[in-house]
Amino acid sequence: MTLKKIMKYILIPVFIILSCKSKSEQVSNEDFTINHILKDLTLEEKVGQMAQINLTVIAKGPSKWRSSYPLKIDLKRLKKAILDFKVGSIINTINGRALKPTSWRENIKLIQKYAVDSTRSKVPIIYGVDGIHGATYADGATMFPHQINLAASWNNENAYNMAKVCAYETRAIGIPWNFSPVLDLGIDPRFPRQFETFGEDPLLAGRLSRSMIRGFQGDNNDISNKYNVAACLKHFVGYQSVISGKDRTPAYIPDNVLSEYHIEPFREAIKDGAKTVMISSGLINGIPVHANYDLIVRVLRRKLGFEGVILSDWEDINKLHTRDKVAENKKEAVKIAINAGIDMSMIPYEYEQFCKFLIELVKEGEVPIERIDEAVSRILKLKYDLGLFDNPIIDSNNYKDFGSKKHRELAYKAASESITLLKNKNKILPIKNNPSILVTGPNANSMRTLNGAWTYSWQGDLADEFTSNYNTIYEAVSNSFGTSNVKFIPGVAYKNGGNYYEMNEINIKKAVDEGRKSDVIILCIGENSYTEKPGDLNDLNIHKLQLKLALELSKTGKPIVLIINSGRPRLITDFEPFMSAIINVYLPGNHGGDALADILSGKINPSGKLPYTYPAFPNSLLPYYYKPSEVQNNNQGAYNYTGEVNNLYDFGYGLSYSHFEYSDLNINKDIFQSTSDTIQINVNLKNVSNIDGYEIIQLYSSDLFAQITPDIKRLRDFKRVFLKSGETKSINFSLPIDKLAYYNAQNKKIIENGSFSISINELNRTFLVKQ
Ligand code: BGC
Repeated sequence: MTLKKIMKYILIPVFIILSCKSKSEQVSNEDFTINHILKDLTLEEKVGQMAQINLTVIAKGPSKWRSSYPLKIDLKRLKKAILDFKVGSIINTINGRALKPTSWRENIKLIQKYAVDSTRSKVPIIYGVDGIHGATYADGATMFPHQINLAASWNNENAYNMAKVCAYETRAIGIPWNFSPVLDLGIDPRFPRQFETFGEDPLLAGRLSRSMIRGFQGDNNDISNKYNVAACLKHFVGYQSVISGKDRTPAYIPDNVLSEYHIEPFREAIKDGAKTVMISSGLINGIPVHANYDLIVRVLRRKLGFEGVILSDWEDINKLHTRDKVAENKKEAVKIAINAGIDMSMIPYEYEQFCKFLIELVKEGEVPIERIDEAVSRILKLKYDLGLFDNPIIDSNNYKDFGSKKHRELAYKAASESITLLKNKNKILPIKNNPSILVTGPNANSMRTLNGAWTYSWQGDLADEFTSNYNTIYEAVSNSFGTSNVKFIPGVAYKNGGNYYEMNEINIKKAVDEGRKSDVIILCIGENSYTEKPGDLNDLNIHKLQLKLALELSKTGKPIVLIINSGRPRLITDFEPFMSAIINVYLPGNHGGDALADILSGKINPSGKLPYTYPAFPNSLLPYYYKPSEVQNNNQGAYNYTGEVNNLYDFGYGLSYSHFEYSDLNINKDIFQSTSDTIQINVNLKNVSNIDGYEIIQLYSSDLFAQITPDIKRLRDFKRVFLKSGETKSINFSLPIDKLAYYNAQNKKIIENGSFSISINELNRTFLVKQ
């Protein structure tokens, strides 16, 4: 029964009541519909709406954790979940792998038809999935670079395109809800999900996430449109800022620090109408976020004004008992989490328990029915906004662009704009004169390493199975420089199976012998794919076999172009001095090999800039917005705090084949007397090289003295500008004074009178704020 049919029974009498009310008393059609559906639901049906299960639970197969392949829905299991327990949401794939679009559509159609035709409530189910850099679990989907690359391109357009294509291709397989973007700050290079973020800076993350929301939810935020999906901001909040650097471990973050950095990107995306939020699996100040009423209700709901659905992360309600020990049993865990404000539980297996406990808790008065009604009405609204009541089943004829050339070109563009040139000694790049090239290293011939996790599989381990149409680095370099000029010898390789970080020595000596005979060596190092717990790391140094390969190759005296292909900045300090050129490709996706080859050959002029600080040492892992006392002994001696911290490469750093000069930085006034005032900033930028290119101009501010020790500097704006060879452009920024505010120790946003400075590149200007 469609929404229209449900409404037939209730519309006429209510219309009469509504038309008797004054305009201000009238509720919107949508609220009215949702209230009526809600009123009609039993407690069991309401609780079912709050339950989300994994696809394996209703698929045929040996257990609820493992399914047979290809996917077939087990009608008995489906009936139990949807009819008996009234479950309202399903997620994920089977066995962590991609399925054919036809299989997705047929199976989701079957599930949806069952929900709509066979249940008393007729409420459609909502299917959710992780499309992280493309429609992860759709065979043939377009794979963009990961979020970290989009941030390295400093180009909102790439974030928008990725989300738009991902939304289209996710809807194409019948799924309307995507668990993306990741708004955690990638503040810790050890964390196994840094690549899923926009890097360490709140402003960059905020800007790009807004573009992603527009890409997912559409320019008019109309998620009923068949090419749009509901976005899910995750993981609220502070998830990657942990003590140990490991996934789902404790963080200790004062409120003002949360507000200043971690909450900021969420605030922006919520303003733009993001429909759902997923809660962090971690703990802050000893309290699991899933149990934290203050963060979920006082901050997320009241301060940020979030009105959509709040979803738990994977099994995290149970974990309040099994892992974090704040609940004595699983029933108490349900009580704590639902009362803390979680609307839907990603259970995802033991749904019988969750439903039974929550129904009991309501009957016992431990969870107020108002809390249930509030959660369920938000879930119904989400389903309503997505158009699921009227169109529960997709028409597969509408998605001709799935995996199309048009989509793939956008992915290539994002990859080529993100790749970051970090070193280019003697202008060795672009590679000239058709030399003989050795391509070596464990990342040289792998689509898995180019794509990272969430690529046709959860851990990315199945990526190679689905990517035979795309080029690895070696293949792309061969295509570009001629097969007869290019040789591939791996030297070392990742172990198959086993842990993602284990390696084997294959033929280092052979690689070195070949290197001696070659004109240029392209050494591709980094990491194998991983995410979440399997990606936890005990040593940020690059694997010792890769170090050995690099050092042995450096003895050949041949120029080495180092390609870094990893999900986080692994330490390369021990051999960096011996490399002639260094390029960071991060996780550039299916088109990363081609984009890199085009940069190596000079067809593309690199323009990416680091969205994180590249550390030099394991005990110096700081974002660029550190405090002055972090400065270590420098040339001026101990306790001299005027220097900088020891990074390998700074946040915002990246070279081009062009050369740019900045001059004439000016501001409109020296004294600003009101917080509603705006600083007008102007700088000249000249391309002094004979190559056209893009430059990313970054505007920073520094509060020189403040109640709490100010950060060294903070990014306030940026622009990506194209300059022809010899061209000069005058670049303007408008910076409202209130953007200089910060959260003080009482977690209040303030601007103090005093001296500030702004800087662009090496230039800076100081000014006073005197209200
Ligand atoms: C991850 C989330 C993801 C969820 C569903 C969790 O383990 O932390 O980011 O959305 O699984 O797959």
